[in-house]
Amino acid sequence: MAELRTVKERHPELTDAVDMHLALLDVQRRIQSRVPLPWFALSPEIIAKHQAEARPLLRFEDIPLDLTDFRLSVRQTADVLRRYGTLEEADFERVQALGRDMTLLAVAGSWFRRRAELQGRGDAAAADRARPADEGVVDEVLTLAMRPFLSRCAEVLQQRPELASWTHAHCALCGGEPDLAVITPAAERHLICGRCRLRWKFAPLTCPYCNNADRSRITSFATPDGQYRVYACDICLRYVKAYDARHATRPVMPVVESVATLPLDAAAMQRGYTS
Ligand SMILES: [Zn+2]
Ligand SMILES: [Zn+2]
Repeated sequence: MAELRTVKERHPELTDAVDMHLALLDVQRRIQSRVPLPWFALSPEIIAKHQAEARPLLRFEDIPLDLTDFRLSVRQTADVLRRYGTLEEADFERVQALGRDMTLLAVAGSWFRRRAELQGRGDAAAADRARPADEGVVDEVLTLAMRPFLSRCAEVLQQRPELASWTHAHCALCGGEPDLAVITPAAERHLICGRCRLRWKFAPLTCPYCNNADRSRITSFATPDGQYRVYACDICLRYVKAYDARHATRPVMPVVESVATLPLDAAAMQRGYTS
């Protein structure tokens, strides 16, 4: 949180974005403190099998999802997004209704499985096509509201040495797409899952969205201070941002990086890339 306040001091124009993320962090931290560390089957054999099949390890049923806390997470996330003008009134009402509705678990289950199952079949593009356009808002809220629960699950896998054998571009735990990367002091690139925040090593110049590995078709540029780098793919036109930890004084903090790199998003989009 102190780092986020530093971002605000350095970039007054990002004040609203910082405040929104501080409020979201607050919601997530309070809920996450009550989520027990989950247990799910994780032997070296199971991890090797899932790696071979590109199939994520976590099943929806294994997430320690307390319904009361999950509802609270959905409603409070929606409250914060509306307060900062990110959710329109009609969408807010829809999400609030979902937070009270008996179908919440089913909706969350299909949100979770959609990507996990399609990723398992090696068809990430279909995972995107399978998403009806108007579900973008619900997806966005669920991504935030599920984070306290999924992050706990990620803690379990993050400690396992076998995670180093995962070679895919999607998350080994939940099948989510990376939305950030970190360049480690050993100059490796690790991807960070946009859903559960798991970190795993990935090829340094391959596009994690279409697997384009042709270096001449990857456009890479850094911020003047060298703190961040963008890898943009000239095949699928998507980009991933990386926090360059090689000369950094602190470890990567996904929430801080996502706010601090908003100007970098604008620069990437200006060049015709999408996140
Ligand atoms: Zn994940
Ligand atoms: Zn690509």
